[in-house]
Amino acid sequence: MAECPETRARAGLLHTPHGTIETPVFMPVGTQATVKGLTQRDLANDLNVQILLGNTYHLYLRPGHELIRQMGGLHRFMSWPNAILTDSGGFQVFSLSGLRKISESGVVFQSHLDGSRHSFTPESTVDIQLALGSDILMVLDECPEYPVRHEYARESMQRTVRWARQANSHFQNRMAESPTAHALFPIVQGSMFPDLRRECAAALVDLDAAGYAVGGLSVGEPRPLSLEAVEATADILPRAKPRYAMGVGMPAELPEYVARGIDMMDCVLPSRNARNGYLFTSEGRVIIKHARYRDDPGPLDPNCQCYTCRNYSRAYLRHLFQSGEILYAVLATRHNICRYLDIMRDIRHAIISSSFPEYLRCVRASFANAG
Ligand SMILES: [Zn+2]
Repeated sequence: MAECPETRARAGLLHTPHGTIETPVFMPVGTQATVKGLTQRDLANDLNVQILLGNTYHLYLRPGHELIRQMGGLHRFMSWPNAILTDSGGFQVFSLSGLRKISESGVVFQSHLDGSRHSFTPESTVDIQLALGSDILMVLDECPEYPVRHEYARESMQRTVRWARQANSHFQNRMAESPTAHALFPIVQGSMFPDLRRECAAALVDLDAAGYAVGGLSVGEPRPLSLEAVEATADILPRAKPRYAMGVGMPAELPEYVARGIDMMDCVLPSRNARNGYLFTSEGRVIIKHARYRDDPGPLDPNCQCYTCRNYSRAYLRHLFQSGEILYAVLATRHNICRYLDIMRDIRHAIISSSFPEYLRCVRASFANAG
């Protein structure tokens, strides 16, 4: 739709079997086939969420992809009308599972729920995601921790590329057997080494995939390094395909990723932080338990049009939080997700109206002032 002449930001349309998505887009995370605290009606009708993320690792372990297939697929199971993207489970295997063993054929891991043993292969994670019926599937990747030595990062990145080739050819075979409209995205790895990121991206471009993800971010690295890792691949990943930065970021970082050519992002921060009492507003963060909000009659964010901000005071939200009420999580999550979606709408509008560089300068200045 539009490209920023000064940065790599672009505004586009991403067509899926479950609707067209305006990009750049933020995808709320529905780990267990639910965004904690919100109904699907809240998400689709009130917040106008066009795409949700589901976690293959969690859904595979419980309730199991075969059960979800029997129930008509994830869309029907959770009654979600719009698009779904699922990750491959790689990130959770590496971050949640206590015991794991990586081999050339895949990864054997222990469930964090009951200690039972399982394995993921590049082929099996494609099959699991097809059983779920995701619109956009991710290939199995190895997500190394941070920091990691260059030598190991290279070995791991090369394995991720081999897995991506295997996953892709398995996916092509499955699509040839029963043609349905799914997309499979390979994932660029290479830790925080720009040379490895570039090498990985170049190898994955040969797969001519429908889109590309940049993974291995938010693993404990300093924030500037995550941006550098994304920047390293910006010239290599095809301009005509969507690019997805996995697991980022804070509100001030969203336009930074967009400026580096990213079209899609997901993050648990807005929902998780909401439940912990950390709220994102257009005027900065609000830690709702602070005593100063005890008798504050104003809305959480005077510039926000969400249901929470239109109807409730900071004093009431603080009271619900202090009392451990379920309604607190419901109202807080609704606002934080709305805040992220508003930021993405502003970014998209800025790109289309040729004012993105100015928008970016304002965001940088306001966060620099806020410290
Ligand atoms: Zn609000």
